Amino acid sequence: MTLHQLIYRSKKSQWVGSAEVRSIIERSSTINKNMSISGTLLFDGEYFLQVLEGSQSEVLECLCRIQADPAHSQLVILLDETVDEREFGTPGMQLIESQTGIVSKLEDGLSNLSIFIRMLDNPGMKSKANMIIKAFRKGRWNICDELISIKKSAPPPQKTCVRKSIVERSYPHYFAFQPIVDVNLMKVTCVEALIRGFGGTPPYTVLNDLEPEALFKLDVESKLSALSMVGEMGFEGSIALNLLPMSLVSYQGSVELIAKHAKSLGISPRRLVIEVTEDQAIENLDVFMEAIKTARHAGMRLSIDDFGAGYAGLSLLADFQPHKIKIDRKIVDNIKGNGPRQAIVKSVIEFSERLGIEVVAEGVEDESDLAWLFAAGIRNFQGYYFSRPAYMSLHEVNWPDFLVEDIDWVSQKVEA
Ligand code: C2E
Ligand code: MN
Ligand code: MN
Repeated sequence: MTLHQLIYRSKKSQWVGSAEVRSIIERSSTINKNMSISGTLLFDGEYFLQVLEGSQSEVLECLCRIQADPAHSQLVILLDETVDEREFGTPGMQLIESQTGIVSKLEDGLSNLSIFIRMLDNPGMKSKANMIIKAFRKGRWNICDELISIKKSAPPPQKTCVRKSIVERSYPHYFAFQPIVDVNLMKVTCVEALIRGFGGTPPYTVLNDLEPEALFKLDVESKLSALSMVGEMGFEGSIALNLLPMSLVSYQGSVELIAKHAKSLGISPRRLVIEVTEDQAIENLDVFMEAIKTARHAGMRLSIDDFGAGYAGLSLLADFQPHKIKIDRKIVDNIKGNGPRQAIVKSVIEFSERLGIEVVAEGVEDESDLAWLFAAGIRNFQGYYFSRPAYMSLHEVNWPDFLVEDIDWVSQKVEA
């Protein structure tokens, strides 16, 4: 039998008092014993952290039952792993008050208590479960995804200010445009230009199967069309352009050409954001550094795209700090229930704050993921939830109810 260890954190529902907590323990204790699961529950008065150990199928069955329990919400899986032995003693259930370490209900009296205390206090004891418990006791896991309200002074959502769609065939390239929003300002602060084939076919239909030189040429020159289109649409915010680092490097004078074209359209190069991905950049670091120097000199901003999807993001950051980091959508996806992803995003937010880097979460599709990211402090978003890329055009933005409702609340207050 493979032994499984699963740790989750959840938040107590408001109606649950200490009597209810105790009765949950009673019930779970019997069920766990029958299923041969050891369940150690830490409770700090507001949040639960539970370690479940047992056979994989039974642990998962137990988790399903727990997920359906209305006594708590915001359940986040922190660890889900095969282990070689039980760390938390005999099957049953025990409750530990996380701040004091006092065990309130024990199946196996003193021995479990001593296992637990020994575990917490032994500095040499470095199991993952132990370290997660310590982090929980330090309050590291009490960020939640409740819909906290946005800054009360937020203005009403702004229209994206688009005059028209672009007529196909009036440019030699085709693009879709997707808004990047700032929910504090309730504004589309940036649009990203995404290359398309005629009729809206995906980027690979245009970029694949080209010789490097032709690819770099197309990559750079298509950006001139993208800028003209944005100018024609009348959008006045920033413009994000995807570029292969090698396009910037190999195409002589690429940065100057883009800057010059932007200026000719009345677009300040300061409005341009160059997006590069981690992998591409790190492969050619020296030459790449030269290219970004030129871009910075021209006033352009730089963004690391798909941050977290590549293998060298952190070392890249150590070498140069971009203006923006766009957290990859694979990390954002289902973040509301995923402890490891939450831990990664929390630390990205923290180091970005220290370094003055703006964080964008991309690929946001789901409102509860958005709510978690918002509660964690992210204010810039891109994703289907807000708006899909629009072929040769720019769509209006869908603003989340929990933000818009708050705006209503503000205007009611003002009227009163
Ligand atoms: P990217 O720069 O990370 O662009 C975001 C991609 O995610 C876009 O795919 C967009 O349609 C998609 N996306 C946006 N929101 C969501 C969402 O909520 N859910 C999901 N599932 N997807 C979302 P697209 O347009 O197919 O572009 C793919 C990639 O192609 C881009 O990824 C970029 O790396 C590359 N690319 C696009 N245009 C250019 C270009 O002009 N030059 C170069 N070198 N690469 C480009
Ligand atoms: Mn991009
Ligand atoms: Mn991306």
